Amino acid sequence: MRLSNKVALVTGAGSGIGRAIARRFHDEGAFVYVNDIRAAAAEETLGADRALVADVSDSGQVATMFSSLERLDILVNNAGVAESPERWREVNRIAEARLEESPITSHWDVTVSMDDSTWRRMIAVHLDGTFFCTREALKIMNPQGSGVIINLSSTAALAGLADAPHYAAAKAGILGYTKAVAKEVASRGIRVNAIAPGFTQTPMTELVSDKVRSASLATIPMGRWGQASDIAAAALFLASDDAAYVTGQCLSPNGGAL
Ligand code: NAP
Repeated sequence: MRLSNKVALVTGAGSGIGRAIARRFHDEGAFVYVNDIRAAAAEETLGADRALVADVSDSGQVATMFSSLERLDILVNNAGVAESPERWREVNRIAEARLEESPITSHWDVTVSMDDSTWRRMIAVHLDGTFFCTREALKIMNPQGSGVIINLSSTAALAGLADAPHYAAAKAGILGYTKAVAKEVASRGIRVNAIAPGFTQTPMTELVSDKVRSASLATIPMGRWGQASDIAAAALFLASDDAAYVTGQCLSPNGGAL
């Protein structure tokens, strides 16, 4: 019960990593609010009484969500989006072709073909969402004189990701934001850290083809993708008092890939 008497909010917790974090925090004694953009998904994680529906990229919806909270000890900025199913098919097609080609003739050409709205949506959900939720959380945590914020970044921020420059940019922005806010609020007794997972098995990544998935294993010394529970364990460490002297850091569970 490492989080007994703590109140937590996990965004995007109706699926994958966020759901695993919410359930792990619950098992460790926290009262956990479960945010998601879809009510049914949020309610399935820990029940309807814990569900808070809001689009984290909408500052008005975020402010309304936080106005229902009286106390907040832990915020996990986890909500995220990846590619559309059509785009995943294209990514798989190019990635599989490149495995066979020498020299490579199937070029990614993501940046030259990306429209403004695709770029904006990626930045809005990840980077704006992290800022909007952090801003509201600090209005509660500052007067408390305590709190923990954990932001989901990605190995894409650390190493780049050829098929998703917008995603890598958003996640790298989150890393810089994490380090800055950690310094900003340390004197308030608030810790801010990031987690940068490598490939993790969740609904977000289930459309990666078997061939591309197999090829990715060659880049992971541990020879497997992460599970959502692996990331939840990292979040629990950062949320708990075991990490009392840890702030402004990035913990990257990635099986040794980086
Ligand atoms: P996931 O299974 O797709 O879960 C993300 C959840 O966030 C979904 O329920 C999604 O709803 C929700 N969401 C999307 N946009 C939202 C918004 N604007 N407001 C509120 N909720 C929203 O993905 P995951 O793999 O667990 O990823 C969780 C986090 O880890 C993300 O930030 C992701 O970028 C990061 N991450 C994942 C991996 C990986 O390999 N899986 C690796 C590194 C980092 P919908 O399903 O309706 O979109």
